[in-house]
Amino acid sequence: MVATDLTYRASEVEPFRWEGLDFFVKRDDLIDPRFSGNKLRKLYSLFKLKNGRVKRVVSYGGAQSNAMLSIAYLAAMKGWEFIYYAKKLPKWLERDPSGNLKRAFELGMVLHQLEPQNFYEEIESVRSGLGADELFVPQGGADPAAREGVALLASEILEWAQNRGYERFSVATPSGTGTTALYLREALSGSVEVLTTPVVGDEETLLAQWRRLKPDAASLPKILFSFGKHHFAKPHPQFLKIWKSLKRSGIEFDLIYAPKMWLELQRAYETLPKPVLYVHSGGVSGNVSQLQHYAFRGIK
Ligand SMILES: *Cc1c(COP(=O)(O)O)cnc(C)c1O
Repeated sequence: MVATDLTYRASEVEPFRWEGLDFFVKRDDLIDPRFSGNKLRKLYSLFKLKNGRVKRVVSYGGAQSNAMLSIAYLAAMKGWEFIYYAKKLPKWLERDPSGNLKRAFELGMVLHQLEPQNFYEEIESVRSGLGADELFVPQGGADPAAREGVALLASEILEWAQNRGYERFSVATPSGTGTTALYLREALSGSVEVLTTPVVGDEETLLAQWRRLKPDAASLPKILFSFGKHHFAKPHPQFLKIWKSLKRSGIEFDLIYAPKMWLELQRAYETLPKPVLYVHSGGVSGNVSQLQHYAFRGIK
């Protein structure tokens, strides 16, 4: 059984010194141990839905997704069924589910595997066939429903800055769908620089996603993209090195998104408005399976 309540409180901000550079980190990863930091923000408005209307939540995406696990917790807390669509799993994973997938199964998630060829067409036909008591969450929680929770994050950041007298400073968070960065940009004033880097695809992928979410956006987050395009979640020796060095400095981050953002921050540090506040978006529960990928590829 999972506790059915969410004890929400503002997350702490900690000073963080890394590779001789000074940062602050907003510990969204510590708000609730069940949720991957920004997924809690993105699902916040769904938490607040009154029980009764929704019977089932339907979503789709990667088999080790942080969003998947967060929705599994949400559904378990709310007493909703959770149906999740993923591309056909590799045999070894199907035989012996690990990490986020294992935990999501324990929480009652029902997985449907689809052939990769017409995955998105199938998802679209599922979505258009849903009833009034079914809730659809797009991949990674990329949905205008995410706005409310991210605006709450922004208001906490502004309060922190105000208390310390910071007016012009930077807020950084890596992008998957770009939802968190976009709604942070929307909710923070123009004197705050919102920085991100695409971890899925490239700058164009991210810009297209932002256009989908908010076609009329007056301003967009600033994209740092010196490292270039990298296949999502694919192990890279430099990412592991950065992840280890961050951990030695005192904070464990996720291995998929965080290293790329930290690398960009390190390279651009001199040019950034200070202080630089990094929003820790959780994802640490996925490190077990990601470290297995690294070991499997012989990257240490
Ligand atoms: C999901 C996730 C992101 C990406 O958030 P988006 O809003 O999809 O851009 C970044 N970091 C971590 C750890 C995540 O789990």
